[in-house]
Amino acid sequence: MKFELNEYKKQLTDGDILDDIQRVAHNLNIDYLSVSLYKKHGKYSQTAIQAHFGTWRNACSLVGLRTERKPSELKIISDEELFEDLRRVAKLIDSDTVPYDSYKKFGRFSSGNIFARFKKWSLFLQKAGLKETGFSKEKITEQQCFDEIERIWILLGRQPTTTDIVNNGVSIYSIDTFKRRFGGWRKALEAFVQYINSADVNEVSQNDNTENASNIDNCFDHNSQKEELNLVNTLDLINNIPKHRTPRSINTRLRFVVLQRDNFKCCACGASPAKDPAIVLHVDHIKPWSKGGETEIDNLQTLCSKCNLGKSDLE
Ligand SMILES: [Zn+2]
Repeated sequence: MKFELNEYKKQLTDGDILDDIQRVAHNLNIDYLSVSLYKKHGKYSQTAIQAHFGTWRNACSLVGLRTERKPSELKIISDEELFEDLRRVAKLIDSDTVPYDSYKKFGRFSSGNIFARFKKWSLFLQKAGLKETGFSKEKITEQQCFDEIERIWILLGRQPTTTDIVNNGVSIYSIDTFKRRFGGWRKALEAFVQYINSADVNEVSQNDNTENASNIDNCFDHNSQKEELNLVNTLDLINNIPKHRTPRSINTRLRFVVLQRDNFKCCACGASPAKDPAIVLHVDHIKPWSKGGETEIDNLQTLCSKCNLGKSDLE
């Protein structure tokens, strides 16, 4: 899930939204577009769409998409459907293989589901009749390793073990990749924890009161966080949104800390990727950011995509 500023209703026309819905449906070659698929591929937030059209369904019917799932679409996705979609992405990126990241970006199905079924990305590629990606070890960055550890940790709902990586095939990278870079799996985990803890998770910036006196500071202190905050507050002024001490976006580290505090489970319904890999967890503002809620650990909670959507409907 991306954490971005919502599109501003004033600048956004009905046509912009409808065009984008049409674009996504066209790219995916489907005539029924679920909210979750649109969230993955679309540009606009559900809040914006509801403000313009009342419901997601209304917006879909305006561009001629079906508003009800066919019974067949409720069935379990077959292997062949997954292969077909993988081949569609291969065609899209004009390649005889599909790297995991590309599928995450363009694919129609959850990569978590695919891992649960095939255990290894290379096996999935092979069964679909495509070439293996042939990961170049040098190209995998430390950040990619951390992202992957985070993904696995959330997926399992606990600290991943060597066995998970070696035998259970949950990782897109081999154990050797982690060994080469960090010296061992344990060391990789230690580096990850250090990375998570390396930022102040609350990320509270300066108080509003200090602003007048901080001109001199500003000359010297141009850290990006401050600039982001200034930008955020300027935009807030334009849109009459309460002033914030924190940026709206939740950084990776804070996100992980919240997920861990909540035991990688939805706070509302208890769903977790550990029990069902199809579950996607979001970190959500308890008091909405648009109503002055801050991006602080105490104002954040873990919700599954279903409960998160239910919540935004009520707002
Ligand atoms: Zn839930």
